[in-house]
Amino acid sequence: MSASINENFLKLNESYLFSEIARRIRTWQESNPEVSDKLIRMGIGDVTRPLPKTVVNAMIKAAGEMGEPETFRGYGPEQGYDFLKEAIRNYYTKFGVELNPDEIFISDGAKSDLGNILDLFDKKNTVLVTDPVYPVYVDTNMMDGRKIILAMSSEDNGFLPLPSPEYKADIIYLCSPNNPTGAVYNREGLQKWVDFARENGSIILFDAAYECFITGDYPHSIYEIPGAREVAIEFCSLSKKAGFTGTRCGYTVVPDTLTRGEGNLNKMWLRRQTTKFNGVSYITQRGAEAVFSQEGEKEIEENIQYYRDNAKIITDTMDKLGIYYTGGKNSPYIWLKCPGDLDSWDFFDKLLKEVYVVGTPGAGFGKSGTNFFRLTAFSTHDNTREAMRRFEEFVSQLVK
Ligand code: PLP
Repeated sequence: MSASINENFLKLNESYLFSEIARRIRTWQESNPEVSDKLIRMGIGDVTRPLPKTVVNAMIKAAGEMGEPETFRGYGPEQGYDFLKEAIRNYYTKFGVELNPDEIFISDGAKSDLGNILDLFDKKNTVLVTDPVYPVYVDTNMMDGRKIILAMSSEDNGFLPLPSPEYKADIIYLCSPNNPTGAVYNREGLQKWVDFARENGSIILFDAAYECFITGDYPHSIYEIPGAREVAIEFCSLSKKAGFTGTRCGYTVVPDTLTRGEGNLNKMWLRRQTTKFNGVSYITQRGAEAVFSQEGEKEIEENIQYYRDNAKIITDTMDKLGIYYTGGKNSPYIWLKCPGDLDSWDFFDKLLKEVYVVGTPGAGFGKSGTNFFRLTAFSTHDNTREAMRRFEEFVSQLVK
């Protein structure tokens, strides 16, 4: 007798993108030590601004409470404290969305829940992802052996694919504003997906991790779309909104109106979480609550505006150079077409070697990214300006 493994793991692609980028940078640095300090990283998906003061103070206060017998807390509710659920419920009312607190589940971030939610679904379900894609959607389903269908995107659809008969699938992933393309669905586009899911009995897993970057009249939540409560689960995160990438807190909304067969998905998720998860720390949840306070929102808006200003520096450069791109306006990501029709890895190498700027090759997010490149606004103003000055110089030489 011996334990047998989940062989689906053997079929996973190497998680190759960021390690390959690191390898190429290292090789370049070793052979060019005299300029290696000039490197500017514009490919990072992690925030660079510290936590807002209001959040830090709330966590210090909560840590103090944990050290006193009267206010110490042990295990909390697996699905999150009422004070935080209430703060999130209030936040949704700004978008005209009414949630019941039992529909909100606090998590340690969107990534875990995006993977864990698959416990609720049959491994025989088919899955649709838009390509290019946040790799987590693909890998978590490959681990379960599900069949994955790709909805390809391109300049033709502005990197916002719409439903089509060949995209029928049991589970549909949508991410808006999108990582990596920064493209954002308008109400009409999302309504088409909701209608499509309703016609086919599909469930939409809606990733709203970047909703805080929206400035125009675009939906922040899929529940702004009529009919979504019967077809969608929403994932959100404080990572990019409030700099929680290292602090870890997010939330998932599972409407109590979402059912399939005999199962109520809200009840199933509660059962799953109370069995396999013991909640997010009290200290973190108090910090998260402060994110939604008046003072917290003000400080967070300053940080987000800082990134938006970086995004504008980048998009202004693309406009000036006449380069096609998506994103940057409602997103920290700018997805640009490689000048000179270069392959994304060739463009990466040239940009690194000639002007010491690093971005992320689009090919790492799927076939549709072969000739595209992702830049991010998570940097300082000075570095962004300098990187764009060099980018402009480089592209002008390239297309001469
Ligand atoms: N969803 C998308 C599209 C992301 O880009 C990320 C992080 O980069 C996540 C989810 C994960 O967020 P969290 O830090 O909350 O796990």
